[in-house]
Amino acid sequence: MLQGLSVSPGVAVGRAVILRFGRMPSFRRPVAAEELEREERRLRRAAGRAAEDLARHSREAKGDMGSELAAILEAHSLIATDETYLGAITERIRRERVNAEWALSEVTRELGQRLAAADSAAMREREADIADVAREIAAQLSGGARPGPGELPRGSILVADELSPVDAARLDPRRVRALALERGGPTSHASIIARSFGLPAVVGIPELCEAVPPDGPIIVDGDRGLVDIAPTRQRLRRSLVRVREDRERSRRLRGRAGRAAVTADGLAIAVRANLELPEEIPALERFPAEGIGLFRSEFLYLRALPRSPGVEEQRAAYEQLLRAAAPHPVVVRTYDLGGEKGIAPAPGENPALGLRGIRYCLAHPELFEEQLTALCLAARAGALRILLPMVSSLSELREARTVLQRVAARTGLAQMPPVGVMIEVPSAALLADRLAREADFFSIGTNDLAQYTLAVDRANRDVSPLYRPLHPAVLRLIQLVVDAGRAAGRPVAVCGELAADHAGAAALIGLGITDLSVTPVAIPDLKDYISTLDAARARGLVQRALEATEAAEVERIFGGAA
Ligand code: PEP
Ligand code: MG
Repeated sequence: MLQGLSVSPGVAVGRAVILRFGRMPSFRRPVAAEELEREERRLRRAAGRAAEDLARHSREAKGDMGSELAAILEAHSLIATDETYLGAITERIRRERVNAEWALSEVTRELGQRLAAADSAAMREREADIADVAREIAAQLSGGARPGPGELPRGSILVADELSPVDAARLDPRRVRALALERGGPTSHASIIARSFGLPAVVGIPELCEAVPPDGPIIVDGDRGLVDIAPTRQRLRRSLVRVREDRERSRRLRGRAGRAAVTADGLAIAVRANLELPEEIPALERFPAEGIGLFRSEFLYLRALPRSPGVEEQRAAYEQLLRAAAPHPVVVRTYDLGGEKGIAPAPGENPALGLRGIRYCLAHPELFEEQLTALCLAARAGALRILLPMVSSLSELREARTVLQRVAARTGLAQMPPVGVMIEVPSAALLADRLAREADFFSIGTNDLAQYTLAVDRANRDVSPLYRPLHPAVLRLIQLVVDAGRAAGRPVAVCGELAADHAGAAALIGLGITDLSVTPVAIPDLKDYISTLDAARARGLVQRALEATEAAEVERIFGGAA
């Protein structure tokens, strides 16, 4: 039994499929002297194909979305044919009489260690580049297919070192029963995707990939954060019973989930859905919501890499969402790229404090205009609202509005959709009264608001005990936003994970929030919980919580609020 962090509830039993995304999959095989030449040819052929592939991706990226990614891919294509690199690998094949895969991974590893130790940031950056290229060559050696979560056998449990947002976006929930990962935290994007697909998930177990026997049956207990890598018959039986019970409970809750959410003392709460991809739309039938309170549009972008989703593909996705949610609204958040989301920062820099969210979009006007064009074209299909992520000052809202106005005029959109600001940076919460004069609505992103207020990386396991969104400091900031919204007549919603938590929902409702957006699987349980909650009592508890000094106190205060 290995203990990790539970990030998505439920129990699953299945066959372990181990994928190492971060490191290259490799195996050692002795090669007879007369076959060494053939092994070298295999390597060179694979490297050649990888180089061609990378160059092709680079050309496509250039056509679609500007130069940055294209330049990286082009540089990678050159590394794949670099004679010093390939020469070192062939030398290793001959010297150790081993297969190309092994020589490739060993040489890459050693080179990586040397580069990682280097003083200059540029050298360290090269380490990541070479690792990426080596993965492409390795994929060619194994027949051209890059290992991806899309092609897993049905009934598998994905065991991996980590799951990047790109790979998470490619996950096929019909094939995977659960996730168990070495890295990640409750609000890292793999965890969010796991919850939105309703997959049990446990993260933060170092060396998990080594520990799990490949293809063996394992149990992922997303309620307790446990991974059972060598289950006995008895434990398997017990888990299968729990799987069945869970299924029945969610069926029961779902039977009532169609009703609107109202607290025990009669306060109506809008419960909406957070979606990442249009493929999740069917989930809205199983988990009825009052529209989509957060569409994380960057997943459209990340999934399409290395090309761009372009105007038409985006427009189709937005229209699909708007039609599915009608007559309720759809809040599309503009690309929240940067941070942990797919765009690699320079080594040594802190991505969470870098060019992320609205900053990234304003720095890449062609990308931003393309997205806003798709949104303006789709706007007629329903009640669209546009939400700007990571806003930290009023000028960003103004600049974004200027671009939107220009795009709206160009596309002939007469009625401008409401433009809201995500409150997820303390400066935005502190200036909420000023922002409220120009923003049409607020949506509080508690995942990041907690990260930035508490200075705790939301994906770092070392500090995960400190990641407590119910901290009184976070509550005080939320209170400011609620007051500012109320004074200016601007709606205030919450779309962070805190809204799906019982104590969290009680605190938010107590603070005066009546609009919550959560991952679809959490909707039935949240509605059920709201129906037992007394809003007036929650308001009373808030006064005590705002006076608290520790998150633990607040958690205790709201723990038994219903
Ligand atoms: C948040 O920060 O709370 C949020 C909803 O956005 P994301 O999790 O995508 O950063
Ligand atoms: Mg956020």
